[in-house]
Amino acid sequence: MEQANGKVFVASKKATIIGAGLAGCECALQLAHNGFEVTLYEQKPAVFSTAHTNPNFAELVCSNSLGRYEENTANGMLIKECLKYNSHLLRIAQKCDMSNKTHLNVDRTRFSEMVTKEIEDNPNIEIILSSVDRLPRCENLIVATGPLTGGAFYDDLCKKIGADMIALSDATSPIISAESVDKSAFQVDTNGDLLLPLTDVEFEDLVKMLVSARTIEHHGELPDLGIIQCIPIENVAKTDIGHLQNVRLANKTIRLRCENLGQSAYSVVGFMTHISQGGQRSIIRALRGLENAKFIRYGRVHRNTFVNAPKVMDKHFSTKDRMYIIGQLSGVDCYVPVISTGIIASRAVIERAQGKTPDLFAQGTMIRGFQDYITTPSQNFSPMVADFALIKKA
Ligand SMILES: Cc1cc2nc3c(=O)[nH]c(=O)nc-3n(C[C@H](O)[C@H](O)[C@H](O)COP(=O)(O)OP(=O)(O)OC[C@H]3O[C@@H](n4cnc5c(N)ncnc54)[C@H](O)[C@@H]3O)c2cc1C
Repeated sequence: MEQANGKVFVASKKATIIGAGLAGCECALQLAHNGFEVTLYEQKPAVFSTAHTNPNFAELVCSNSLGRYEENTANGMLIKECLKYNSHLLRIAQKCDMSNKTHLNVDRTRFSEMVTKEIEDNPNIEIILSSVDRLPRCENLIVATGPLTGGAFYDDLCKKIGADMIALSDATSPIISAESVDKSAFQVDTNGDLLLPLTDVEFEDLVKMLVSARTIEHHGELPDLGIIQCIPIENVAKTDIGHLQNVRLANKTIRLRCENLGQSAYSVVGFMTHISQGGQRSIIRALRGLENAKFIRYGRVHRNTFVNAPKVMDKHFSTKDRMYIIGQLSGVDCYVPVISTGIIASRAVIERAQGKTPDLFAQGTMIRGFQDYITTPSQNFSPMVADFALIKKA
């Protein structure tokens, strides 16, 4: 028996998972294979979010790519680690792989069908096709409702963990690798941010590129973009030059903000954007000192609900009341990181049921990187992709 938050938690081999997306399905299969009786709630097919269209589980809502596959990439390393921990979804993804091994690109329909069948065929998993409106009171509750969590359930979650602990990040700026920046072109401020004051001509050129850039199609539900701070930079360039020059790019200055302690990545402040990836490359690389900018993450816009994990969760993705929050909602980003959270939480549930304090994953692994990331205090916590910057040397 373990104690937390003054309460005694009794070991139980039952678990309730809300949401049969990537994280929920991985977690359900992990627990079921370890002898747990799992109740899995899924709101489809009665309720579809605006990004979901397929009634099957583990739907890939946008790209059909689970990302880079080679082991010398951060995502590839995470895939390898997940497979080592018997990831059910990645095993299935490998069976649906259509690519040339540089990327894990899957047949999305087959992938969802196969995951759904494995879950349906597992005698330890009871499926309840119903929308959950309130957090049930039960042991080993795992919330995996994804970045489009909404409605009454969202309101109840806000009540439970505090409305200010949930963010609706609707736009993200690009992140570029530090080694690709020519720092000699920049000034450094006291926070270690890199500053590039633009000349009038450079600013005008930037505006021209922003205004004429091709934007990408909306995928799914978008937030209300009425707040000027959240509006994509290209829209600001079209509608409010004064705001762009004085506020968004304070005094026509490009600011690169350090993303991590290792100073291996910078976000381009204020560049929340809906411009295509090619367009983002052209615009950023046209700036002095950024001619060779390598993108770790592109800017984008979509509704993305996530908890302020460093204030809410421990390294096992559980709150002080022992409710687990996994998937994109927990502050990781992209398909494979989302799947890895199902592995992390299931391992904690299993070990706690054995009366143990759960082990952390080994230092130097990408999975451990996520355990550390979601518990590192940050003023601007936002969902993170697999990246070598997450890894501390063992
Ligand atoms: C529009 C959009 C596009 C994205 N594109 C990509 C991409 O191309 N590549 C990438 O790597 N990542 C992408 N992401 C990010 C992320 O990887 C995916 O959102 C991923 O599917 C998240 O997995 P999840 O398991 O956390 O949530 P989801 O896959 O969204 O699963 C959540 C499940 O919970 C169910 N559910 C929700 N609420 C309830 C409820 N109250 N009761 C019962 N069931 C409920 C939903 O129906 C759904 O099946 C995208 C995100 C969004 C929003």
